[in-house]
Amino acid sequence: MKPEKNVEQLKFEGSCYCGSCQFICEGKPLFRIICHCSICTRISGGIAVAFVGFENDDLKVIKGLEHLRGFKSSERMERFHCEKCSSNVYNQSLLANRLFRDTPLMNFQRDDQENILQLDQLKPDSHMFFNQCQKCYSEMFKTDDLIKFSSMPGSTIIPNQQKY
Ligand SMILES: [Zn+2]
Ligand SMILES: [Zn+2]
Repeated sequence: MKPEKNVEQLKFEGSCYCGSCQFICEGKPLFRIICHCSICTRISGGIAVAFVGFENDDLKVIKGLEHLRGFKSSERMERFHCEKCSSNVYNQSLLANRLFRDTPLMNFQRDDQENILQLDQLKPDSHMFFNQCQKCYSEMFKTDDLIKFSSMPGSTIIPNQQKY
């Protein structure tokens, strides 16, 4: 039997850029992390990608399943994107002992000023694969107070620099 969830059930909504694919996430995020790995940054073209992870069953696509296209970027992960706008909708972990789904933070619902709703519950608390962060970008992050794992979460932590 699953432990009882909080009285106030957490619920987050999100979609791809064009809105063809929509999802809901219920429950507390498993992780909120900025990934600097070469796969995420090359596929997205971004400096890094912030992800929010959920238990498999807690992230559900509620619209546009037929528009999702998968790409197995490694033995560990299959990435699903919208065939219309190319947004990364969610990623499926393929590790039998660690099943989860994650989705880019940027997919979550925003207000009309482009501020992500419920940001306090979704914003990143750590970085991963910081050893793959390009030098021109790592400067930007080195004085933030987030945990910086050199590779996977649980790996060696790269110390933050003092603000000066
Ligand atoms: Zn789309
Ligand atoms: Zn990555």
